[in-house]
Amino acid sequence: MDTFKKVTAIRGMNDVLPQASGRWERLEQHVRDWLRSYGYANLRTPVLEHTRLFTRGIGEVTDIVEKEMYTFTDALNGESLTLRPEFTAGTVRAAIEHNLLYDAPRRVYALGPVFRHERPQRGRYRQFHQVSVEALGFAGPDVDAEQILMLARLWKILGLKDIRLELNSLGAGEERAAHRAALIAYLEQHKDILDEDGLRRMYANPLRVLDTKNPALQEMAAGAPRLLDFLGEASRAHLDGVRARLDDAGIAYTINPRLVRGLDYYNLTVFEWVTDRLGAQGTVCGGGRYDGLIELVGGKPAPAVGFAIGMERLLDLWEQSKDEVVGQAVDVYVLHQGDAAARRALQLGEQLRDAGLDVIVHAGAASFKSQMKRADASRAAYAVILGDDELARGVASVKCLGDGSQQAVGFDALAGTLVDALSADGDAGMPEPSAAPPV
Ligand code: ATP
Ligand code: MG
Repeated sequence: MDTFKKVTAIRGMNDVLPQASGRWERLEQHVRDWLRSYGYANLRTPVLEHTRLFTRGIGEVTDIVEKEMYTFTDALNGESLTLRPEFTAGTVRAAIEHNLLYDAPRRVYALGPVFRHERPQRGRYRQFHQVSVEALGFAGPDVDAEQILMLARLWKILGLKDIRLELNSLGAGEERAAHRAALIAYLEQHKDILDEDGLRRMYANPLRVLDTKNPALQEMAAGAPRLLDFLGEASRAHLDGVRARLDDAGIAYTINPRLVRGLDYYNLTVFEWVTDRLGAQGTVCGGGRYDGLIELVGGKPAPAVGFAIGMERLLDLWEQSKDEVVGQAVDVYVLHQGDAAARRALQLGEQLRDAGLDVIVHAGAASFKSQMKRADASRAAYAVILGDDELARGVASVKCLGDGSQQAVGFDALAGTLVDALSADGDAGMPEPSAAPPV
């Protein structure tokens, strides 16, 4: 017989195992609730787009387009397709294609996997997840500030510690052009120390040379002409408008004149939220204004501002920030012995779920002892035990797995009793069951 070589996952693309998926679901729920509270609606786009959307929308001379995209030719029709490396370009494409901005601006978000061919390490994967939040058709600076305020609220909701805000302005086109000329002149003076990326980008995208992660270039980058010093009156006023609103809200930030962001489409406001708790990959969220993008990819000119959060990094920081409460996977584990009890258990499970409880009904035949082991492992709050004896009396034994106390409860009263018990235990970190309908 042929031996089949074991298949593993693709490097940098992770499985989320059952013991971790609950955390993901809770985090995503917090995020979706938070977005709804600011009037953002979900917009879902395909994972694949035409390659030219990204080369155009993100910019040819960027890390993403130069070396991180998963691009391939569709063998069936010869089209060049790319797995989305970020959401904004696709979101803007969809907004244009469906004429979403015809009568009013829109607040939309996307959440899901994105793909970049990078060297995998902590906080850097080849499939990772973003929530990408876009205010399309808004000129700001009010909405720029609102997005930063809303991020501060998310950190508060999640109880994050040690996360700080860096802010900069990339100004307008003419200001960037004037700065660019000064910057190229500066880079020419430092040609001898530039690395390969730097030399290649020096003329095509000199601002990105300053965004280098190469430690040998940090000092050179620090001494470079600052775009901030080239801002005109309108750009200054925009930045001041954002700053005033952050001050009103008591949100601390530092101005980082070297903050440029990795994508080409930004102007005016740019910001990042960073932490020292995640090692080298400390940027949890990056965003800013991209007033030119909608026109660039074929829409009617309209301003926009947005940001993206890396969900893996957010989850990592969240895990570190909270006092770990290991929540149980379900509320109730139902044990049974004998054929009649097994059938009754299946019915009881349905009744308990009608009352809003999360239930595992033991499947298969096993001794009570081994079923109880499973119940403990499930981290259920209560076990409901059903044997011949109970069945004959029309009751179930309800055992609290926390303190071991046990009582017999009639079938009709079972759901109500468990719902009451679980909501009384709420303080102990158990999930609140939803309110029980009369049973
Ligand atoms: P970096 O400088 O870390 O490469 P970036 O500028 O490429 O980040 P963005 O394109 O702004 O990142 O993406 C938004 C967020 O997505 C980042 O702030 C980060 O939290 C997360 N992120 C980016 N690349 C990865 C990756 N390869 N794996 C996991 N998260 C990532
Ligand atoms: Mg990157």
